[in-house]
Amino acid sequence: MTTEFDYDLFVIGGGSGGVRASRMAAQAGARVAIAEEYGFGGTCVIRGCIPKKLFVYASHYRDDFEDAAGFGWTVPETHFDWKVLVANKDKEIARLEGLYEQNVTKAGAEIIMERAEFLDPHTIHLKKSGRRVTAKHILIATGGRPSRDMGNCVGADHAITSNEAFYLETLPRRVIVAGGGYIAVEFANIFHGLGAEVTLVYRRDKILRGFDEDMRDAVTDAMTKKGIRIVTNRVFKRVDKRKDEIFAFTDHDEVLEADCLMLAIGRVPNTDGLGLEKAGVETGRKGEVLVDRFSQTNVDHIYAIGDVTDRLQLTPVALHEAMAFVKTVYDGVPTPVDHTLVPTAVFSQPEIGTVGLSEADALAAGHSIDVYLSRFRPLKHTLSGREERSVFKLIVDAETDRVLGCHIFGADAAEIVQIVAVALKMGATKAQFDATIALHPSAAEELVTMRTKSYSRAPA
Ligand code: FAD
Ligand code: NDP
Repeated sequence: MTTEFDYDLFVIGGGSGGVRASRMAAQAGARVAIAEEYGFGGTCVIRGCIPKKLFVYASHYRDDFEDAAGFGWTVPETHFDWKVLVANKDKEIARLEGLYEQNVTKAGAEIIMERAEFLDPHTIHLKKSGRRVTAKHILIATGGRPSRDMGNCVGADHAITSNEAFYLETLPRRVIVAGGGYIAVEFANIFHGLGAEVTLVYRRDKILRGFDEDMRDAVTDAMTKKGIRIVTNRVFKRVDKRKDEIFAFTDHDEVLEADCLMLAIGRVPNTDGLGLEKAGVETGRKGEVLVDRFSQTNVDHIYAIGDVTDRLQLTPVALHEAMAFVKTVYDGVPTPVDHTLVPTAVFSQPEIGTVGLSEADALAAGHSIDVYLSRFRPLKHTLSGREERSVFKLIVDAETDRVLGCHIFGADAAEIVQIVAVALKMGATKAQFDATIALHPSAAEELVTMRTKSYSRAPA
C-alpha cells in the first residue's frame, strides 16, 4: 500500500461503524488510524442499545414479580435501587469499551483518543494534540446526537435527552417524555417499569409513525393499560423550571408537572465543525453526509457510514455499511449496501419486532395482499392473570405468495423476528411457512399455523 500518506485509512469516529471498518481494513493489510473524541464503542455501547437494553431488563422485573403470584410464588416487598443499576451498568459499559479498544489494537489499527476535523481533502487536524495527519482514504463515521430542536418552545434547555438519562443521579418520580419514536416509547416503558409516573407527549395522533398500524395500536393499548399516559396532538410551547420541578406548557394551554422532561425527538448527524467544507464533502438538509450506494461521498476518496449519513439509524446497519466499505475499497469487490429487509425492534414491554413491509407500505408499493392476523392471550398470562395480548401479523403478496412482512407484538418478538428475517431474505412463501411443522407450545408457532387469511386488500 501507499507510503505517500501517513495512513492508508483514517476513520473519524469510534462507534459501531468506525470500529468495525477500522478493524476489518487493518486486517486486510491497510495502515489504519481511528479517532474518537468521547468514548470508544460510540452511541450503541455507551449511550444507546446496550445500556438501554440493560435498563429494559431492569424495568421488566416489576411485571415479573407481579406475574409470579399466579404461579404460586409469594414475592416479599420489593425495592428498586437506581444507583445500583447505574453503577452496574457503568461497570459493564467500561468492560465493553475496553474490549472494543483491544480488538481494534489487536487488528493492528492505531487508536487516537481525540477529536478529528478536516483541514483539506487528505489532511486531518487532531484538536487536542494539534497534530496534522494525512490519509489516502478517509471514512466519516461520526454518528449523531439527540436533537434539542423543539421549534419555538422556550426553555427546552431544561430538558434532558437519552444521553443524560443513562446517568441521572436519582430516578425521577414523575417523567414527561416528548416524542413518539423508538426512544420515547422505550424510555416511557423503562421509567414506568422502574416505578415512575410517566406521561408521553407526541405531536401527531398515534405513536410510532411508519410502523404497521396494528403494532402501533397494540403498543398504545398496552402502554395505556399499564398506566402510562399518552397525550397526542400536542407540542410544548414553554418549559419552566422552579426549584427541582418542571412545568411544561402545551400548545393547548395545559401545564404538565414533572421532575424530569426527556426529549426523544430524533437525532442530528454529527457534522458541525467537522470541516467538511474544507474537504469539499456535500451534506444534505439535516447536515447528513450525502453518499451513494457504496457509501462514497462526492469526493472520491472520502466515504461515510452509519448514522452520520441518516439512512437507517441502527447498529447492525452501520456494521453492514462498514463491511461493504471494506470489501469495496480493500478487498477489490465493489459491494453496494443492502438496506432491504432489515429487522428491527422497539423494546417496549412487551416489544415490537418487525421485518419487511407494513400493510400500508405493501399497498403503497403496488402489491395486492393477503393479511394473516392473530391476536391472543399468551399461555403464561392464563395463570399470571395479566391482561396482555400478543399480535402476530403476516403480509403476503396475493400473486406470488411471497411473505412481504412480519410484525409481532409480544414477549420475545425481537428474538423471533431475527430468525423470520432469514426466511424473508430467502424469499419464503406463505406455503413454505405453512409446510413448516410448529414448535409447541410456543408463541412463535403462530407464524406457521395461521392458515385462514384474515382479509385481502388491493392497492388503491
Ligand atoms: P456512533 O455509534 O454514534 O459513533 C460515532 C462516534 O463518533 C461517537 O463515539 C462520537 O463520539 C465520535 N465522534 C463524533 N465526531 C467526532 C470527531 N470529529 N472526532 C472524533 N470522534 C468523533 N440501534 C439498534 O440497532 N438497536 C437498538 O436497540 C438501539 N438502541 C438505541 C438506543 C438509544 C438511546 C440510541 C441513542 C440509539 C440506539 N440505537 C439502536 C441506534 C444505534 O446506537 C446507532 O445507530 C449506532 O450507534 C450508529 O453507529 P455509528 O457508528 O454510525 O455512530
Ligand atoms: P425517531 O425518529 O424514532 O422518533 C422521533 C420522534 O420525535 C417522532 O415521533 C417525531 O414525530 C418526533 N419529533 C421530531 N421532531 C419533533 C419536534 N420538533 N417536536 C416534537 N416531536 C418531534 O427518533 P428517536 O429519537 O426515537 O431515535 C433515533 C433513532 O435511533 C431511531 O430512529 C432509530 O433508528 C434509532 N434507535 C433504535 C432503537 C432500536 O433499534 N430499538 C432504539 C432507539 C433508537 P413524527 O412521527 O411526527 O416525525
